[in-house]
Amino acid sequence: MNCEWTRDNLVLYIYEELADDAKFEFERHVQHCLACRQELESARGFKEQMSALPVQEISPNFLTSNRMELQEALEHAQQARRAQRAALARERADDVVERAPAVRRRADIAVEPVHHERGAVVERGGVAGVREIDSPAPVAGE
Ligand SMILES: [Zn+2]
Repeated sequence: MNCEWTRDNLVLYIYEELADDAKFEFERHVQHCLACRQELESARGFKEQMSALPVQEISPNFLTSNRMELQEALEHAQQARRAQRAALARERADDVVERAPAVRRRADIAVEPVHHERGAVVERGGVAGVREIDSPAPVAGE
C-alpha cells in the first residue's frame, strides 16, 4: 500500500477499526516508511492527549439530531452523485445521437456494392478476408 492510502487509514488504524488484512498492510507499510511511521506516532500522541481530557456527557437529543443530520447529508451526497452520473449518461447519449447520421452514412458506404477486379461484385465489409483490389468501377449493364 502507498503513503496516501496509509494516511487515509491512519485514524481507523489507531482506533482499531481496520479489517485484519488492511491492518496487516498498514503495519507492513509503516515498518518500511519513516514518514508514515512518524505520522502514526504523531497521531497516537494526539489521541493520548485527547483521551486525558475529561469527556463531556452528550445529551441523547443532541446525539440523535446529529445522527439524523449526518444521515441526511449522506443521502444528499448520494443523490447528488446519482444525478451527476445520470447527467453524464445523458450527455453521452446526446453525443451518440449527434454522431448517428455520420455513422449511418459510413454504414451505407460500407454496404455499397464494389466491383472486383475479376468482375465479381462484393460488398465492402461484408465478407471478412475479401481483399479489394480496385476502387469501385461503374456497373456495366445495369
Ligand atoms: Zn508511507
